Amino acid sequence: MLYPLSYEGIPFSAAYYKLLSTIVKINPHVKSSASLTPALRVPTNGESRLKSCAMTTFTHTDQLKRFIFENSAVRGNHIQLESTIQEALAHHAYPLVLRNALSQLMVASALLAATLKMQGSLVLQIQGRGKLKLLVVECTAQLEMRATAKWSGEIADESFIELLALGQFVITLDPKDGKQTYQGIVPIEGQSIAEILQNYMQRSEQIETRIWLSNNSTRAAGMLLQKLPEQLEQDADAWNRICHLADTVTENELLDLDAESLLYRLFHEENVRVFEAQTARFKCSCSRQNVGNMLRMLGAEEIHSILAELGKIEVHCDFCNTAYAFDAVDATQLLTTETIITASAVAH
Ligand SMILES: [Zn+2]
Repeated sequence: MLYPLSYEGIPFSAAYYKLLSTIVKINPHVKSSASLTPALRVPTNGESRLKSCAMTTFTHTDQLKRFIFENSAVRGNHIQLESTIQEALAHHAYPLVLRNALSQLMVASALLAATLKMQGSLVLQIQGRGKLKLLVVECTAQLEMRATAKWSGEIADESFIELLALGQFVITLDPKDGKQTYQGIVPIEGQSIAEILQNYMQRSEQIETRIWLSNNSTRAAGMLLQKLPEQLEQDADAWNRICHLADTVTENELLDLDAESLLYRLFHEENVRVFEAQTARFKCSCSRQNVGNMLRMLGAEEIHSILAELGKIEVHCDFCNTAYAFDAVDATQLLTTETIITASAVAH
């Protein structure tokens, strides 16, 4: 049995610990000047030109591919996720509408994370005020992803947009290297996750970004195009032309075609260069040590009070369903040492 903890009256599990740690680490009222600055790195190896690529019908999933349009200030990313999504969403029986939303949010998080220079994590959250309480997806620079949702009551016929009523969208960049965390909070504008993100990027980051997302029961896929700040004069129409071509993409094409086939189908008259793939996977970053560090923030008084009432403290990670238990001996160790937490990692 897992006992809920609370912090200032809010019951929390490891998902909330994560949020709490984010809130504690940063000053939520200050927006850092760090932004989602595009970072186009052009590797010298592993690149391929579409026009010289052999067409293939073999689909590579759980791989992200970056591409650029030669002689145009436009770049893009493409990804299909299969095992990453299945593993990430296997931990809870999500209502279908939330499963679909999380799948697309995971794809979107990878597409956006791949446009960033930073080495830490990108966290996308949708906070609702109705039955849907929270959708949260985290993607690291290494494309290690996790996701979870919180909701109350039964969600059956509601559309995703209905569930989003009065919600807000929160994007957090945690560089995890001691640099300042960036957080943007905006109202939800749009009728789909792709639209919400496009509007966010346009409004908050002033970066023209288009996102196409699709998912079915086993797979999700997406493509992102981004206009780089310095539009080259010799091809001023490139952005509009490329977006117009991209708008012809169908959901099935996104889901079924590998990156090269899709890009060739959409942009065969353009000069597209595709870079080496980066593999995505599910991975939860929770650990007994992290949970212990977060428990320390509760303070000795709170910890002793929970132990007196319940005999032990159990913390549950909503992302991966791991439970961490701390009894009185563990708690004493926790409060008297800085980092060593040696008891068994998984609760019984
Ligand atoms: Zn976990």
